[in-house]
Amino acid sequence: MARRKKIYEGKAKILYEGTEPGTFVQYFKDDTSAGDGAKKAQIDGKGVLNNRLSEFFMTGLNQIGVPTHFIRRLNMREQLVRQVEIIPLEVVVRNVAAGSISKRLGIAEGTPLPRPIVEYYFKDDSLHDPMVSEEHVIAFGWASQQDLDDIIALALRVNDFLSGVMLGVGIRLVDFKIEIGRIWEGDFMRLVVADEISPDSCRLWDIETGQKLDKDVFRRDLGSLSDAYTEVARRLGVLPTNVTHSVKPTVIN
Ligand code: UDP
Repeated sequence: MARRKKIYEGKAKILYEGTEPGTFVQYFKDDTSAGDGAKKAQIDGKGVLNNRLSEFFMTGLNQIGVPTHFIRRLNMREQLVRQVEIIPLEVVVRNVAAGSISKRLGIAEGTPLPRPIVEYYFKDDSLHDPMVSEEHVIAFGWASQQDLDDIIALALRVNDFLSGVMLGVGIRLVDFKIEIGRIWEGDFMRLVVADEISPDSCRLWDIETGQKLDKDVFRRDLGSLSDAYTEVARRLGVLPTNVTHSVKPTVIN
């Protein structure tokens, strides 16, 4: 097969020209990085697990009417997605204090938050993804007030869905990051969840033991990242060996 045209290469994924108009192929690498690329490693099989896990979460979201860019998985490391125009924001939802909010506001990690908190970070590695307010987002034209209302609604629906799914397998969803894309249909624009949803972009703690099952294992040198991600995939029934019966898309009429 002729090599596809590379559109963009990021730290954990590569985007290729799609196999159908209006699509991209998203390839999941084994590369792992933290601290804006200051710490790097290859974790064997991470890309395969994240491809499956992102497929699982995005398929579930599509099924409950939360639109995403995901179309279908193509193979072990690739999925077909809709072409979107990415809004240059990382949208973070937090249920429990951890990471940067704990540092910034002096809240002990593990403190439950009074309600889910939505935050925005401007996607720019050279600036270390600074936190921005709604005022910044609107003033600099990254998104409109209406977009932000829609983004918050999407982010909170993703939070409810993911929290419930994870709770079902004994995992607390502490926080997560999503990216939002615009899809144009003529003059009409809609917002969809894009990029990926995987343990690279969530904090996942075992409910019983508090054990971390996410990228903090790598960031903080807590053990084997691939064991942690494999455990999440195993609990969700999406390990490559038994995936066929667990994530088959169901058609809802
Ligand atoms: N996150 C991410 N990509 C980033 C920054 C954060 O996926 O570039 C995720 C991170 O995994 C966590 C959530 O967003 O689930 C909140 O991260 P936080 O602001 O606490 O930053 P960190 O402590 O990871 O630097």
